[in-house]
Amino acid sequence: MDYDFDLFVIGAGSGGVRAGRLAAATGAKVAVAEEYRYGGTCVIRGCVPKKLMVYASEFSEMFEDAAGYGWTVGETSFDWATLIAAKDKELERLEKIYAKNLGGAGAQMFDTRATVTGPHSVKLASGEEFSAKTILIATGGRPFVPNIDGSEHVITSNDIFHLTSQPKRALVVGGGYIACEFAGILNGMGTQVTQFYRSEQILRGFDNEVRDHVANEMRAKGIDLRVNTDLAGAITKVGNELHLTDNNGDKYVFDTILYATGRVPNTDNLGLETAGVELGKKGEVIVDQYSRTNVDSIYAIGDVTDRVQLTPVAIREGVAFVETVFHDNPTSPDHELIPTAVFTQPEIGTVGMGEEEARSKEEIEVYSAAFRPMKHILAGKDEKMLMKLIVSKATRVVLGVHIVGHAAGEMIQLAGIAVKMGATKEQFDATVAVHPTAAEELVTMKSPTR
Ligand SMILES: Cc1cc2nc3c(=O)[nH]c(=O)nc-3n(C[C@H](O)[C@H](O)[C@H](O)COP(=O)(O)OP(=O)(O)OC[C@H]3O[C@@H](n4cnc5c(N)ncnc54)[C@H](O)[C@@H]3O)c2cc1C
Repeated sequence: MDYDFDLFVIGAGSGGVRAGRLAAATGAKVAVAEEYRYGGTCVIRGCVPKKLMVYASEFSEMFEDAAGYGWTVGETSFDWATLIAAKDKELERLEKIYAKNLGGAGAQMFDTRATVTGPHSVKLASGEEFSAKTILIATGGRPFVPNIDGSEHVITSNDIFHLTSQPKRALVVGGGYIACEFAGILNGMGTQVTQFYRSEQILRGFDNEVRDHVANEMRAKGIDLRVNTDLAGAITKVGNELHLTDNNGDKYVFDTILYATGRVPNTDNLGLETAGVELGKKGEVIVDQYSRTNVDSIYAIGDVTDRVQLTPVAIREGVAFVETVFHDNPTSPDHELIPTAVFTQPEIGTVGMGEEEARSKEEIEVYSAAFRPMKHILAGKDEKMLMKLIVSKATRVVLGVHIVGHAAGEMIQLAGIAVKMGATKEQFDATVAVHPTAAEELVTMKSPTR
C-alpha cells in the first residue's frame, strides 16, 4: 500500500525532532506536526530557560562572596524584565535552529495540532488527513495542578517564564526537582520564598543523605521550606494578593503561587483510543523495549511514555526508534545508570543507586564526606559540599555516586562514565587526584563511613 508519508511524527520536542531528523536523513518521507513551538518543553519551557534563570539567580551570592576575596561590589539590583527579554531572544534563536535542522533534513513540517485517526492515519487541526506507514507519538507532558479551590490563581512552570514582573513573595508547592529548582531561582533573585511539601522530605527518590543536605542548605540560603505542609481550604484573591491557610492553621499572603506537583502525559484527545493504542493509569502510552505500542504501526518516545522524563533520554529513545524502524536494527534505549543533575542551590549530581536502594539489594559500603570546599573559606560561607560513594561489598563495584555542591552537574557527567563502565572503588582510588579541587574527594575517601 502507498502511504503519504513513511513516518508521521506528532510533537517536535527533544525526542520528536531527533527522530524526525534522523529518519528524514535516511531518505524516508517524513512529516512532523508541532502545535506550539519547535524544540518542545526542554528548549521553550524547561531545561534551557530554567538553566538561564539559575545562572541569573546565582549572581546575588557571588556578589556577597566577592567581599571575602577583596572586591568591593557597588550597589546591585536585578531587573526581571531584562532577563526575560534576553532569555526570549535566546529561545527564538534556538527554536529557529531546531526548525531549520528538521526542514534541512527534508522533513515536511506542519505548524499545527495533529491527532491520530487510525493505525495509519493522522488528522491536522485544519481537517486535512494523511496516511503514514508509521506514526511516532512524541507529544511530551504538561504540568499537573490538583483540583483545589482557587486553582485559577496559581501558575505552573509553563507560566513562570512569562511573568511580567518579579514576585516579591512567592509560594512554591511541591517537593520534586522542578519545585526545588524554582524555589532556589526565585530566592537567589531576591523574592521571599516559602515552599510547601506535603510529605516528610523533598526530592523523593534521591539518596536520603542528599535530600537532607540539600533541604538544610536551601533553608540556610533563606527559603522557608515547610515539609509535612499543604494548603488547607481555598486560595482567595484579595486585590493583588493571594491569601491562604496551611494544614497547621498558619496564614499566609503571597503575590504568586507556583504549583510544581508533577507532570502528566499529553494524550488527552489525541485519538489514540480510536486507533486501539493502550494507555496506562496516568494516560501514558504503554510501549515495549523498542518503544512500540500494542498497535504495530504506532510507536511512542519521550515523556509521553512516562519512563524517564529527561531530555537526553527522549533523544536516545528517538535514536533507537530510527535504528529499529529505518535501519532494520532492533535497538532498545538503555535506561540503566543515567547520570542526572538537579539545579537546586546547591546543585546535585547523581548516578546509580542511593544508599537505601542499594542496601535493600545487597551488602554495601558507604563512603561519605561533608566538607567546606576551599571556594567558601575566604568567602566566609559555612555551606558544605557532600560527596558520597556507594560500593558493593561483594564486587567492589561503585553502585552510586552522589555529589551536592558547586558544579556537581558537571562532575557527575564524568563520574557517570566510570560508573557506566563498572569501575570498582579500587579503580576510583587508583586514579590520581586533581588538586586543588573539590572533586578530588571522589578518589581520596579511604575508609568507609558505614
Ligand atoms: C521546568 C522543567 C525543567 C526541566 N529541566 C530538565 C533538565 O534540567 N534536564 C533534563 O534532562 N530534562 C529536564 N526537563 C524535562 C525535559 O524537558 C523533558 O524530558 C523533554 O522535553 C521531553 O521531551 P519529549 O520530546 O518527550 O517532549 P517535549 O519536549 O515536551 O515535546 C513535546 C512537543 O509536542 C507538542 N505537542 C503535544 N501534543 C501535540 C499534538 N497533538 N500535535 C502537535 N504537537 C503536539 C508540544 O507542543 C511539544 O512541543 C525539564 C522539564 C521541565 C518542565
